[in-house]
Amino acid sequence: MARVFNFSAGPAVLPEEVLKEAAEEMLDFNGTGMSVMEMSHRSKTVERIIGEAEDNLRELMNIPPNYKVLFLQGGASQQFAMVPMNLMKNKVADYINTGQWAKKAIAEAKIFGKVNIIASSEDKMFSYIPELKGLKISDEADYVYICHNNTIYGTKFNELPETGDKPLVADMSSDILSEPIDVTKFGVIFAGAQKNMGPAGVVVVIIREDLISDDVLPGTPTMLRYKIHADNKSLYNTPPVYGIYICGKVFKWIKKLGGLEEMKKRNEAKAAILYDFLDSSKLFKGTVFKKDRSLMNIPFITGSQELDAKFIAEAKAAGFDNLKGHRTVGGMRASIYNAMPLEGVKALVEFMELFESKNI
Ligand SMILES: *Cc1c(COP(=O)(O)O)cnc(C)c1O
Repeated sequence: MARVFNFSAGPAVLPEEVLKEAAEEMLDFNGTGMSVMEMSHRSKTVERIIGEAEDNLRELMNIPPNYKVLFLQGGASQQFAMVPMNLMKNKVADYINTGQWAKKAIAEAKIFGKVNIIASSEDKMFSYIPELKGLKISDEADYVYICHNNTIYGTKFNELPETGDKPLVADMSSDILSEPIDVTKFGVIFAGAQKNMGPAGVVVVIIREDLISDDVLPGTPTMLRYKIHADNKSLYNTPPVYGIYICGKVFKWIKKLGGLEEMKKRNEAKAAILYDFLDSSKLFKGTVFKKDRSLMNIPFITGSQELDAKFIAEAKAAGFDNLKGHRTVGGMRASIYNAMPLEGVKALVEFMELFESKNI
């Protein structure tokens, strides 16, 4: 068995330990004589799997009791619609445009109401996070929306906008669990699982209870109401049981390693190795303003499309997979989520040094 170093932006690398454990339990979970995939979602076993996953996530993120944790489907993209459908009471919301995922959320929200773009970094190819001081929040806005870590462009909000009494909604698909955050600063946090938590098919929603109500936009389908899922503890219909089970294992794995403080330490150490190299390299360059660099997604270029392509091909042959940048921006991108080991980043940088020495 040869596993590669997988730098995919998502679906992404998972901890090997988790995959092995899941493999061992594939045919017979815990003496039940069946796979988790084959179990009724109404069984005690599945109830326990989901309950434990929620408890561990609450503990890891220090989620206060007045927040609900929901395990839903439809990906982060479905949240682009669910958020306005459930929160846009005045049919107005403020969005900060920091890249493609924010843009998609904006386009979706426009279906339901008025969207104010209160800040944007589009002028410089989304290579930075806009200035947040003095940001003008609209009086009538129902919420303020950010994409906390921009998977494609490699930027991250290191500070949060001051939104006063307006709930802050954050897409944390690509940086949830990468470091401690203060959940009380947010009204809603959502994250697709397939970057830093588990397999595709699960989206985690952490939502303050006062934002959950029957007062949703007319026409909101049952399945798109937070209240239905909150009232039914994510068991209104069949939830993505197997995905939640894997997420639960990842939560336990993070807990065992020391929680989010330890993840932050590890992620900072990994990112520093790559950023330090990019800052000193004569061939490779990072594309993001230093103060806004992501710990998770690191885009870089050589400046030549041919060299980029050569690098990506040679890297793949050497066991470094999925380094091609997003199809809309080109270049390279190394996604180094929690499950990417330090050795993977070190080996990549050694490979980049070697490539540089041969190609400059
Ligand atoms: C991947 C990603 C999405 C889209 O997730 P889906 O689960 O495919 O809908 C949305 N936002 C961010 C920040 C992402 O990284």
